[in-house]
Amino acid sequence: MSRPRILVVEDDSRIRKFLRISLEANAYDVVECRLGEEALELCAQIQPELMILDLGLPDIDGQDVIRRLREWSGIPVIVLSVRAEDAEKVTALDAGADDYVTKPFSISELIARVRVLLRKSTAQQGAGSLLRCGDLLIDLIRRRVSLAGRDLALTRKEYELLRLLSVRSGHVVTHDQILREIWGPAHLEDIHYLRILVRHLRQKLTDEPSAPRYVHTVQGVGYRFEDCEPVSDGA
Ligand code: CA
Repeated sequence: MSRPRILVVEDDSRIRKFLRISLEANAYDVVECRLGEEALELCAQIQPELMILDLGLPDIDGQDVIRRLREWSGIPVIVLSVRAEDAEKVTALDAGADDYVTKPFSISELIARVRVLLRKSTAQQGAGSLLRCGDLLIDLIRRRVSLAGRDLALTRKEYELLRLLSVRSGHVVTHDQILREIWGPAHLEDIHYLRILVRHLRQKLTDEPSAPRYVHTVQGVGYRFEDCEPVSDGA
């Protein structure tokens, strides 16, 4: 089991260091940065499991970080908010943050919230072996896919791509991640392989790239699969 990776976005180096030491002591991997723009880029690159975000950053406002992140990513975000400014927290939650702690915060409280959010998102990701997305039904155990009740014949790579994207539906999966999983680490530059595979998968799903129902392109980053819901087996 790999350790969950947490991105800490905080311009105060003492707090950043404190968070790193505390989180690492609780078996989390930590990547840190001090700017909002950096945070967005890192999120796309390394796909952390969770973000801890200070709202007062030197470049862009933490609120803007959340809004922009939510255009393509559903990872849990915990906001570090100064004092008891309710309006600030509400704005952050409205923008898509999942939780917040107020500075000065207790580390045990923060770790408890991290645990809850990570448990929730793993539960969602691993919720079932049968996924439904509109007319599409994906049986992850039997490796069978049907569209509007008709079985689809997918190649092994097409199926792998569909599985990779659908189990992380609602999240962006980056080009690197897909290339690494399907072709291996030697092929991270071979984005054209991926483009062709996506085109084939879309054809079989009768998905229009201009108005996708399933596979959404996230320009320059990767792909995001439309939200799937787990179906209980035999239903
Ligand atoms: Ca700050």
